[in-house]
Amino acid sequence: MPELPEVETVRRVLEKEILNLKIVDVKIKYNPIINNDIEYFKENVIGKTFKKLERRGKFLIFKLNEGNIISHLRMEGKYFYIPKDSLDNKHIHVIYYLSNGYMLCYQDVRKFGRIEYKDEKNLFTTPPINEVGYDPILDKEIEINRIYDKIINKAVPIKTTLLDQSIIAGLGNIYVDEVLFKSKINPLMPSKNLKLKELEEIIKNTKEILSNAILNKGTTIRSYTSSLGVEGNYQNFLLVHTKEVCPVCGLKLSKIKIGGRSTYYCKNCQE
Ligand SMILES: [Zn+2]
Repeated sequence: MPELPEVETVRRVLEKEILNLKIVDVKIKYNPIINNDIEYFKENVIGKTFKKLERRGKFLIFKLNEGNIISHLRMEGKYFYIPKDSLDNKHIHVIYYLSNGYMLCYQDVRKFGRIEYKDEKNLFTTPPINEVGYDPILDKEIEINRIYDKIINKAVPIKTTLLDQSIIAGLGNIYVDEVLFKSKINPLMPSKNLKLKELEEIIKNTKEILSNAILNKGTTIRSYTSSLGVEGNYQNFLLVHTKEVCPVCGLKLSKIKIGGRSTYYCKNCQE
């Protein structure tokens, strides 16, 4: 599942390709991917030009010359930018035909991804974007006490809270394990026991780990590659997620499920 570094990688690669291209037509092959009325979506998108590609948490925001297309890749969504009619399969659900004869295809084997047109005035004031929490890469100012108040209200394990996109945005299963290991915090610790100092450590390590992962174009694990043939390298730098032995103390790592998600940690280093 793409997390912040993988979505940022898609943004960086794709923006260069589609900038200033006009959408001359759109084909939608699987309607539930689109969160708007289909006719409304088409009316607002056809004839517009891609002006910028932004990101907020795990959302991509395609800025048009008027309005925006928000896209969430969820489990397996990917974009391909390729010459017209050079690719088609049953997993391609949305095709934007572009003014240079290319097409931008959205492929999603699991069909969990969502795409939505939003006008400018509602973009940041309505769901889903207004529900996205602190973005550790984009947000230079941090209201640490506000984040802390949200966390210590919760009894669930700290790992579960860090996966909540409305608090800190962009962390998913892989990077949360890495951040908690680096911060020496047990993923099962009840969120309400977290100390402010520990949150500061989590934020610092989150910024560092996500930035390094972006430099390495994200992590390529199992079936996921970001798009356009870009393969991330950060899997070579993971310290605990999918690993057997603690790189610090040598103890065999524990592998458990938290909220149904595979979790790797060291019982010795993360008390
Ligand atoms: Zn250890």
